[in-house]
Amino acid sequence: MGRIFTVELEGRTYSCRVCNTHLALAQDLISRSFRSCRGKAYLFNSVTNITVGDLEERMMLSGTDTVADIFCCFCGQNVGWKYEAVQEKYQKYKEGKFVLQRDRIVDGIDSGFEIDTCSGGSSRYLALPSAINNA
Ligand SMILES: [Zn+2]
Repeated sequence: MGRIFTVELEGRTYSCRVCNTHLALAQDLISRSFRSCRGKAYLFNSVTNITVGDLEERMMLSGTDTVADIFCCFCGQNVGWKYEAVQEKYQKYKEGKFVLQRDRIVDGIDSGFEIDTCSGGSSRYLALPSAINNA
């Protein structure tokens, strides 16, 4: 298995809950009040460090849309989906946009203080329970 290269984002970011790989920038966030049949989710202009699955027709709250699941490129977790084509005219703004499920990602504001405790070396840390005990 080859080494996986991930992009480190600058600024406030949203990260994979499993492996802390950066997935999106707060400045690319379109809506935090996005809801889907899978629960609470965020809509983004663009995301990074993801792989895109096969296109499929999926019944959404707004109708049948063409979407593709997106996965964290580091740990393979399904983190959300991408809208390829949307039927409803008033929903067209979602085409080409990405949805990250709230329960699959970590908000940069919530997790930032954990990351500051380490300096030097790799900037990627796994959220081990033992690392939180001495806080
Ligand atoms: Zn991950």
